[in-house]
Amino acid sequence: MKLKRIAYFGDDRDAIEDLRETLEKINLQLKDFSPTRAGSLEAVGFNPDLILWDLDNAEVDGGNPPIEMIRESGFENQPILGVAKREDAEKIVKSLASGATDFIYKPVIGNPLPRLVAAMSASQRDKRVNWSNRALDTMNEQVRTILSSLKDPAYIVDPEFNILYMNRAAIEIYGEGIEDGTCYHMFYGRSQPCDVCLKSKGTARWRSILKNGKAYRFMSTVIVNSKGEFEKVAMSTDITPDEEVMKIYKTFISNVSHDLRTPLAAIDQYANIMLEGLAGDLNEDQKKYIEVVKRSSFRLGNLVENLIDANNILSGHFKLKLRVSKIPDILDIVLERLNSQAQEKGLRLQVQIPGDLPSVYVDTQRIAQVIANLAGNSIKFTEEGIVQIRAGYMPRGDGRVIVSVEDSGIGIPSDDLSRVFDMFYRVESDQVFLEEGAGLGLTISREIIRAHGGTLWAESLEGMGSAFHFALPAHKGDKNS
Ligand code: ADP
Repeated sequence: MKLKRIAYFGDDRDAIEDLRETLEKINLQLKDFSPTRAGSLEAVGFNPDLILWDLDNAEVDGGNPPIEMIRESGFENQPILGVAKREDAEKIVKSLASGATDFIYKPVIGNPLPRLVAAMSASQRDKRVNWSNRALDTMNEQVRTILSSLKDPAYIVDPEFNILYMNRAAIEIYGEGIEDGTCYHMFYGRSQPCDVCLKSKGTARWRSILKNGKAYRFMSTVIVNSKGEFEKVAMSTDITPDEEVMKIYKTFISNVSHDLRTPLAAIDQYANIMLEGLAGDLNEDQKKYIEVVKRSSFRLGNLVENLIDANNILSGHFKLKLRVSKIPDILDIVLERLNSQAQEKGLRLQVQIPGDLPSVYVDTQRIAQVIANLAGNSIKFTEEGIVQIRAGYMPRGDGRVIVSVEDSGIGIPSDDLSRVFDMFYRVESDQVFLEEGAGLGLTISREIIRAHGGTLWAESLEGMGSAFHFALPAHKGDKNS
């Protein structure tokens, strides 16, 4: 064992000799100091690993041993052991109560080494804990420094989601002084913690549009502070599409889709010429192949038309031809096609519209397009059961006509529900990818409904089915509105 230094504070010469003799035998070096502030300052230069305080020393403020005085002299972590006569049980108890680590007897009885080693290793352990706590504090400070230099919002919350820290970017969005609340309330306007955080024990990821109208992708992770408490650090990246990039992207979609229209029309035309036999007779196999070409060009044509439509709608380049219309008349435009799609899949399409439903002031073709998109999706994503189109009247405010398309299909996972309206978004599942689609129908539909002053929203339970509803202002001149 490495030589350890022990400082003895006291005037008992017999005890000093006895201790020196015993301790040197076990490779420990003892030096005595006067039990005063001056003595303890002198002992600092000796740099002891352990301190022995004779309990026969006169009492000083701070108890016996005067722990405060010893620590203040610079012995922050060394174990302090009382040295007492066997009969001085009261002094021993008092010294332990005032913070001594342990005690030994004078004259020394048996081998004191195990007690001294135990006291020193306990102090080492404390030192290590103190060191790691200090390291944790430093690390947490560094985390805050890093967060403060980020240009996008970041914050730290406690396990109950109370805000502990916000960086400057977050304060610039939300203002000073909101740290008294929870993140789910202050940042996301919710009364309950968000699902994504409740469900994830470690790292969580989510997207959110904050008060400044910008979209952010967030990532959170858990850190531990020096008190052993968990804190959650959330950092974000601005993912708001750049306006210039969006402009280029829209121009690109517009050019490409218009350029595709001409060759597609030619493919369709020549396929028709061949099918009608105008270019000579076809055998059965050739007819089948040309049918496939025609179907594929029709699908591609649909996609191109949807792209052009989405582009125009999202750029605000579309005009509504508004007129007073009745929902059943609008449905008639698309019902035949929807019925045959449903029949092909062996599904029942049910329509329930009350006879006294108020009229709406809309672009009939556009609203028919929305119904076709919603019901088309329901048919695509339902294998058995029914697809229902219902309508009703809600007298709240100026009155609204609500149209609902409900199905008993595959449903939409809750995490995807708010995103299915995003351009090109499709739920990542085999059942969805087996079906045709480009993730444009709902984007277009929502924009059309918004342009009419209405709202389109969805409810769904994964595996149980979905319901899409849209509300339109009821026509003012109508008797029910
Ligand atoms: P598309 O149907 O062409 O993929 P949409 O914008 O119409 O695009 O729909 C986006 C996504 O929303 C679909 O790919 C699908 O994942 C999901 N979805 C829409 N309607 C339903 C529905 N009725 N049932 C289940 N999933 C649906």
